[in-house]
Amino acid sequence: MKINSWQQQLNNRITSVKEICKLNGLAYDKNIDEPFSSMRMFVTPYYASLIEKADYSDPIFAMTVPSPEEAKSEQNSCDPLEEEKYMPVPGLIRRYPDRAVYTATLNCASRCRHCTRRWQIIKGACSDWRETLPAVLEYLKKEPKVEEIIISGGDPLILPDDEIIEIISSFKKQGVKTLRLGTRMPVTCPMRITDELCQKMKAFSPIWIQTHFNHPKEVTTEAKEALSKLADSGFPINNQTVLLKGVNDDADTLEKLFRLLVQNRVRPYYLFQCDKIPGTEHFWTPLETGLMIMKELRERLSGIAIPTFIVDRPALDGKVPLSYATAKSNEIVFTE
Ligand code: SF4
Repeated sequence: MKINSWQQQLNNRITSVKEICKLNGLAYDKNIDEPFSSMRMFVTPYYASLIEKADYSDPIFAMTVPSPEEAKSEQNSCDPLEEEKYMPVPGLIRRYPDRAVYTATLNCASRCRHCTRRWQIIKGACSDWRETLPAVLEYLKKEPKVEEIIISGGDPLILPDDEIIEIISSFKKQGVKTLRLGTRMPVTCPMRITDELCQKMKAFSPIWIQTHFNHPKEVTTEAKEALSKLADSGFPINNQTVLLKGVNDDADTLEKLFRLLVQNRVRPYYLFQCDKIPGTEHFWTPLETGLMIMKELRERLSGIAIPTFIVDRPALDGKVPLSYATAKSNEIVFTE
């Protein structure tokens, strides 16, 4: 069966390694079938089709299929960035005076094993925008300092067009000056980026799109087409990559990814140190790894292809940029 539309992709999501192997004609080793995880696996047929080997050495497989390491993690539902503490009303995370994140939904096209919001997903937090948005708008009325909203999730583009537009227009009516929309759809379900959706969103420009490409294998013909539609519609696109051990923790992979993104009108914006989320320990890299990769990339790539290396810290510390060079007593000091 041809699965061309984004709705078909969502309706036919895959939930086992056996199905992935069948889809891609790979040998199925039942010993590698996904172990238990509190955050169950699902993946669009499109994203699953990028898997070339049914084992954890394949980057797409590793980002999709729960590792045996996940089950070993004891406290699968903690909130490492203390987002809950900074939620004045359900659905709104405000860690800075002028901006806040709105989790419109906790649903996504595919589940990423490194997801920062897994604590909310596992907890089954309220994720229906119709329930949370009225109180969020009421709160914003009393807090005019909040000028910027990042519509996030989950993935807000999993919602139908009219619901996305209702959310966007509600924030605009409320006087929000800058809107960002975080989505991994161009990666996991690029057919979601339709001409109709772009046309409808364009009426509310500017909307800054924040994508989440982690590996050059994700920049396919379909993904490029989705990015092109967004860029042609005038949306500025930034990308946030998470540094993941065994997936992209080397300069060659990231160089290739960042070059491809720039060629497709996407600015590599942040390279994130993987958050300390229980269940993702197998993805963690030492901070020095990120610093050394950044040093290497600085030598290989132009400035427009270089993201900022960020460690997201709990609470008000927020996003801390790290560099392999700093200054001490007016001298430049390099990380060894
Ligand atoms: S798409 Fe984003 S919110 Fe959804 S599982 Fe992946 S990282 Fe988490």
